[in-house]
Amino acid sequence: MLDNPKNDPDLDRDLRAVWHPCTQMKDHASIPPLLIERGEGIYLIDRDGKRYMDVISSWWVNLFGHNHPRLNAALKDQADRMAHVMFAGVTHSPAIDLACSLVDLTPSHLTRVFFSDNGSTSVEVALKMSLQYWQQTGQVERVRFIHLSGGYHGETLGALSVCGIDLFREKFEKVLMENIEVTGPDCFRCPYNLRPESCGAECFEPMEKTLAENAKTVAGVVIEPLVQGAAGMKMYPPVYLKKLEDACASTGAHTIYDEVAVAFGRTGALFVCGEHGLSPTFLCLSKGITSGYLPLAATLTSEEIFQAFYGEPSSMKLFIHSHSYTANPLACACANETITMLRENNFLETLQPKIKYLGEVGNRLRELEWCGEFRQTGMIAAMELVRDKKSREPFPPELRVGYRIYLEGLKRGVFMRPLGNVIYFIPPLIIMEKEIETMIDAADESIRAVLKK
Ligand code: PMP
Repeated sequence: MLDNPKNDPDLDRDLRAVWHPCTQMKDHASIPPLLIERGEGIYLIDRDGKRYMDVISSWWVNLFGHNHPRLNAALKDQADRMAHVMFAGVTHSPAIDLACSLVDLTPSHLTRVFFSDNGSTSVEVALKMSLQYWQQTGQVERVRFIHLSGGYHGETLGALSVCGIDLFREKFEKVLMENIEVTGPDCFRCPYNLRPESCGAECFEPMEKTLAENAKTVAGVVIEPLVQGAAGMKMYPPVYLKKLEDACASTGAHTIYDEVAVAFGRTGALFVCGEHGLSPTFLCLSKGITSGYLPLAATLTSEEIFQAFYGEPSSMKLFIHSHSYTANPLACACANETITMLRENNFLETLQPKIKYLGEVGNRLRELEWCGEFRQTGMIAAMELVRDKKSREPFPPELRVGYRIYLEGLKRGVFMRPLGNVIYFIPPLIIMEKEIETMIDAADESIRAVLKK
């Protein structure tokens, strides 16, 4: 029935029983999924022993590599004590330690940590807290969120309703919350013909206008700071965030920073908000929080928000939101070890030469005739492929250029699942300079292999 080139019975079993995420399963009828058996540092190793460099950190979660002895030990140690306990009416030191660390490390007004278990839920929590805050403080008409075109915040219905990417939304449009989409920054195709290094975020204008026009009905603005990941690692300068903070302060709207993808060192700093002196009302964290070991998320907020929920039981002001695996102790133990490693031996400073090197080596990709833009923020880099450099005309989706490059990458031992026509790199932070070079060379060769005439 299925053409299974590797002839492994487990692949047949997979194809009979498993439905993979974000995947046209018919693709697997001809090209089966990789059957990964082990991880070792930045490498994934399949059943035949072939190694693949995990240059996208397994969907941007992994910081310290696979099968890390210290993370393994932290996990085992916690497993020997207790794997899980519910988190209402109960607490435990892994969660207490983690909450206190997050409060210490993030901007000082963020004093309260609400745990959940993935990036989407961290956003759901922020949206619901924001809405309930306004209900309980007398501004009941604040029921809508502003989000950016190209923004991505997860795929559960609430989070999806603040996404600005049609691909994810269109089938569900009729049931999504009525929020407001604003044209966001697009530095590659900047309508003002400006450069991100020197502009003043002139593209903030639509946001400013929308906030002013809807000042009484907007609960908050949801944004991915500096890098719009799922949109294709689209990057924009911090001045946009500064303007957003000022505009929200003057209209009273909350700022919801979704740092799910960019926190914990990806940009070279622990948190974007801290690095740029910004004060979001809510900060959403997940992915790298456990260095890719276990699902965990945290939504941080201020004392002012917390106090609006605090009161006599009869007031019913409590936040009614729970997930069975809230603050899972195993996940919290991995997160605590992750944070320890991020903070010791000047780890973040040691990233600086790597960031520089990634930029230098990545520059080689600029020479390719299909390179529309090579962009970089810290340890995140991306190359946007175009059919024509001058006009910036994109490749039509039906050519599946990114997917074909991905398959070429696999042949060269590099796992770089693209985002449409964007080939990107968000490797584990422990990647070495020579591995950065291998990664870029493999991308270069794979692109040429697919696009050469
Ligand atoms: N927000 C951002 C910025 C993300 O990049 C993602 C995941 N790619 C999410 C939210 C959703 O996270 P999860 O897949 O863990 O639900």
